[in-house]
Amino acid sequence: MSNQKTENAPYVLPPLPYADNALDPVISANTLSFHYGKHHKTYVDNLNKLIAGTELADSSLEDVIASTAGQADKTGVFNNAAQIWNHTFYWKSLSPKGGGEPPAALKNKIEASFETVEACKKELATAATTQFGSGWAWLVQDGDKLKVVKTSNADLPLTSGLKPLLTIDVWEHAYYLDYQNRRVDYVNAVLDKLINWGFAADNHG
Ligand code: MN
Repeated sequence: MSNQKTENAPYVLPPLPYADNALDPVISANTLSFHYGKHHKTYVDNLNKLIAGTELADSSLEDVIASTAGQADKTGVFNNAAQIWNHTFYWKSLSPKGGGEPPAALKNKIEASFETVEACKKELATAATTQFGSGWAWLVQDGDKLKVVKTSNADLPLTSGLKPLLTIDVWEHAYYLDYQNRRVDYVNAVLDKLINWGFAADNHG
């Protein structure tokens, strides 16, 4: 279902791709340690409890997401599974050496869809700052085109048939310790200094 295949249950919290102080000062070690060690871990623990002994117990994370999306009686399973996927993808969407210019092939794709990299970043920032309440902003591939979309709570583009290239977490827990209510400052700093265009380029295809 995606470019991020995972092991079957019981799920394990994947390692962070960098030290918890590696994104400082844009994202502090304090934020990262709570976000990864508490929030992300809790989704893993919750999902393992929810699916133990059920027909989903041997499923990949992507299959759990696909088979529970949009089902009112499976909301808890979907939310925890999707939040595991979203966070693992978010950590990879950031890099201590992020920001700057996308690799040439991706830059060409971005310019074909948005005219300029700056326009793409502006659209991502707008999606991230206008998402009402908790959610995510995404750069996605839709056939030949790149698009920016936003999703609420645990929702993710996979369930709409869109291929995620990168994401920004805009739940308050992602920025409140460092930026309080200033989501726009968090988003702009991430886009300028941390966004991992190389990861987006690897996902494109
Ligand atoms: Mn989060």
